[in-house]
Amino acid sequence: MGETTQIGCACGQTRLAVEGKPIASVECCCTSCRTAGDRMQTLADAPQTLTDYGTTPFVMYRKDRVHFLAGREGLKSFRLSPEHSTRRVIASCCNTPVYLEFKGGHWLSLYGGLWPEKTMPPPTMRTMASDLPDSVSLPNDIPNAKKQSLVFFAKLFGAWVAMGFRTPKSPTTGEINA
Ligand SMILES: [Zn+2]
Ligand SMILES: [Zn+2]
Repeated sequence: MGETTQIGCACGQTRLAVEGKPIASVECCCTSCRTAGDRMQTLADAPQTLTDYGTTPFVMYRKDRVHFLAGREGLKSFRLSPEHSTRRVIASCCNTPVYLEFKGGHWLSLYGGLWPEKTMPPPTMRTMASDLPDSVSLPNDIPNAKKQSLVFFAKLFGAWVAMGFRTPKSPTTGEINA
């Protein structure tokens, strides 16, 4: 199963443990993540989640390898609009974004900010680069896929096979607006 890594929100009240290696570590360039990042950053004391060039670092873990140790009751779901099924879950103690969850997904995309400085698994690719405005130029340190790459889907699917096609439950939360 591998080692357990403890991560958490900026104030330390919300703590999680993740087991073993992530499915992938990526930066998402999509418009939804950028808009959500901008809006979540308007909440009181919220840490910056977007990089200087407007991408969102995520570390994707199987749901069964993410454990909520403390602060689960303070989690709130932010949606871009009421009809959006995608939830971005925030720790309301200090408004740190915790994870992004697609409805029915078998993984959680954990926000990179949960890892203490310089300990986040380094991203291996950027996805949805075609969503960025033309004025943004991305560094060439890792592949910048225009859309979602095939490698990305293969990794996600591989994880689901390993999970026996189960979709574990994630926390039930209240809602938050930003
Ligand atoms: Zn906190
Ligand atoms: Zn995105």
